[in-house]
Amino acid sequence: MAVQNGLHKISTGDLLREAVRDGTPLGKEAKKFMDAGELVPDAVMLGLVRETLQGDTVGRGFILDGFPRTLPQAEALDQMLTDINRPVEAVLVLDVPDETIVKRLSGRRSCPKCGAVYNQFFDPPKQNNVCDKCGTELSQRRDDEAKTVQRRLDVYREQTAPVVDHYRRGPVRVQTIAADRSIDQVQRELRGALNL
Ligand code: AMP
Repeated sequence: MAVQNGLHKISTGDLLREAVRDGTPLGKEAKKFMDAGELVPDAVMLGLVRETLQGDTVGRGFILDGFPRTLPQAEALDQMLTDINRPVEAVLVLDVPDETIVKRLSGRRSCPKCGAVYNQFFDPPKQNNVCDKCGTELSQRRDDEAKTVQRRLDVYREQTAPVVDHYRRGPVRVQTIAADRSIDQVQRELRGALNL
């Protein structure tokens, strides 16, 4: 788990991909949903997040990336955080037009060896499909294939957008960040929003 400025980043997508790679029972269960661009069932996700938050991860605080993605997940998270006395302080919504999301996801390629991430449209490697850092052939996430990306956008609208409305009803601060800009600009704004 990455730590930045004393904050742990807990990405449920990364945790699931790790479980798929390791071939654990959780990974086997999650893979079919992930490959289809569907959400992994709430009960599975809540078990995973509960276990992660019980580990020694909360420190100064933590950023949840990709969670909660449904209303039941948000409600369960609120309860879990109340129980450990760490209520949600801020919700950051990264706003990007659909056309850009499609290009960012369908053009994304990553190195299976060192983890470097490229984009065929915005940040291509020097040699086509080969990692600049370690020379390994790049790969594409199954769920970044064009048809699955479209399904993921639909799922976001149906199941995840209501989570933002849930937090807008208060008392949590909800901040929308225009994320159709460079990595540096978005990162600066995110740091500002989190007082980092
Ligand atoms: P991400 O890397 O956040 O885009 O997540 C990749 C995939 O993992 C998603 O398309 C879902 O299939 C699954 N996933 C990640 N986080 C969640 C979540 N909070 N609830 C359900 N499924 C999730």
